[in-house]
Amino acid sequence: MLRLSPWARLGLACGLLGLSLGFGPSARAAEGHGDDHGKPAAKAASKEPGKDAGKESAKEGSKEAGKDTGKGAREGSRTEVEKAGSQPVAAGVSMTELRDLIDQKIAEVRSKNETAPVLRVSPKTAPAPRARVKPGGSEAHGNSPQAAAAAAAHRAGSQGHDVHWAYAGDTGPESWGRLRPEFQTCMLGKRQSPIDIRDGIPVQLEPIQFDYRPTPFKVIDNGHTVQVNVEPGNAISVLGHRYELVQFHFHRPSEERLNGRQFDMVAHMVHKDVDGKLAVVAVLIEQGKAHPAVQLVWNSLPLEKGMEQRSPVMLDLLALLPEDQRYVTYMGSLTTPPCSEGVLWMVLKQPVQFSREQMNVFARMYPMNARPIQNAAGRMIKDGQ
Ligand SMILES: [Zn+2]
Repeated sequence: MLRLSPWARLGLACGLLGLSLGFGPSARAAEGHGDDHGKPAAKAASKEPGKDAGKESAKEGSKEAGKDTGKGAREGSRTEVEKAGSQPVAAGVSMTELRDLIDQKIAEVRSKNETAPVLRVSPKTAPAPRARVKPGGSEAHGNSPQAAAAAAAHRAGSQGHDVHWAYAGDTGPESWGRLRPEFQTCMLGKRQSPIDIRDGIPVQLEPIQFDYRPTPFKVIDNGHTVQVNVEPGNAISVLGHRYELVQFHFHRPSEERLNGRQFDMVAHMVHKDVDGKLAVVAVLIEQGKAHPAVQLVWNSLPLEKGMEQRSPVMLDLLALLPEDQRYVTYMGSLTTPPCSEGVLWMVLKQPVQFSREQMNVFARMYPMNARPIQNAAGRMIKDGQ
């Protein structure tokens, strides 16, 4: 069997892709140019949980999560590249295999040598919606909860170009942790979200105080969801702690489950305190009667991805909430890369309703944008009575 250096294999893989696609320089440098990047990637990266969990996970013998996170991908791709390399032309290699190879190579090279020039390949046909990380594209609204993590992300060269991740295909949830070093928590974290919320301890929880008011808002399709950015001045207080509402966005179907039940959709109201700590209120959504407030959001959907559309009207945020605001609560993570942990989750137990037509508006853009259920791993869940 041929033994090639990672660089030689990358070159070979890119060469094969070029051959197969019928054009030469199919890979271009990703350092902040081109039509699909140039904006800073989401800065919210939590380094420490991933680091610690990484050691544990490696000990536990997870094959994919070896000391070097690229190991699993590298071994997989070595075999494939060698197979491909043993053939005189790339005739036996499918486009999908090639795409996998390239994605694996890019992730590998990035994690191995962060200062090396990174190649980006834009296949003409993508098997799944390939979206980009933009400011505001992550659950954390692109703001780092920890300055240190942001600095680390900067050192890793994440400023100035983006990373494709998706809900299916070769950049789907199973691969998130390998796409970038800052995304390792997605793979190695021990307190990830979403979970199936069950067997909570029944207690009397202090009600969430919603200090919401009618507010100006902007709607953005960030490539992963429809997100509503709101003006400052809306907040929740829980256990004497105040968190400011930054944005809310939608998933279809609901990411979290309540005693195994998955809902048609969910809205995640993302709040942040002065230290950058996140608290997300999840509002479950089922099909029923039309919801006047969400209709205002849909009315302001922008025509272009990544473009913020300001609504001409105000949004009554309180109208988004169900009447009964009892909730279940646990500690988890962002459900999108970088999957940072330390997020306080409060899931309202009573769903609100959207009409079928309103559901379909979102479904046409995002038929499936829910991360799979993660291991609850014995986490404390409190169920407000
Ligand atoms: Zn979310």
